[in-house]
Amino acid sequence: MKASTLVVVLSVAAAAPSFAHEEHRELGAHVHGHGTLNIAVEKTRVSIELEAPGMDIVGFEHSAESAEQKAALAKAKAQLTDPLALFKIPAAAECKLSDAKVELESGGEHAHGKDEKADAHDHDHGDKDGHDHDGKSAHNAFHVTYALECAKPENITSIAFDYFKAFAGAKELDVSVVTEKAQNKFEVTREKPVLDLAGAI
Ligand SMILES: [Zn+2]
Repeated sequence: MKASTLVVVLSVAAAAPSFAHEEHRELGAHVHGHGTLNIAVEKTRVSIELEAPGMDIVGFEHSAESAEQKAALAKAKAQLTDPLALFKIPAAAECKLSDAKVELESGGEHAHGKDEKADAHDHDHGDKDGHDHDGKSAHNAFHVTYALECAKPENITSIAFDYFKAFAGAKELDVSVVTEKAQNKFEVTREKPVLDLAGAI
């Protein structure tokens, strides 16, 4: 009995990374110009999650190679760590940034997949995974999470998206706002970069 319990636990643990892997693959299917912003308000805590194609933020999605690309990436990461400059919340809400985490997720960063491919190559020269892998690797995406503390979250009556001024390739964001009372979805575009949240929070 003890041995079979151990097997179950191990298989659950093994399933977790493969789920993360699936999420990763979905990121590869992004639409350029199109990102998502999820905002969750729980009392004074405002959590924000941004997902955007590398194309929107830095104009390329392969790994930074030239000095110019590396500088563009460093600049973008610095800009992304300051959400209150990108997503302008009324001062009356008294929001302060408590945490920012910027990640560049590589669509082709499947190190284990590469190893599998190398193994497969030894046995089977006709495998077509190589092509798929190359396609994915050209679609890096940014995944950014923020935690804000807002003394008066009810005063978040609008958000001005200077995000579009900062990142020339960004065209629109699908925004979801979740509060303890409701969940609302919005579309914010470069043409109309303001989100009216009066009464929503
Ligand atoms: Zn892409």
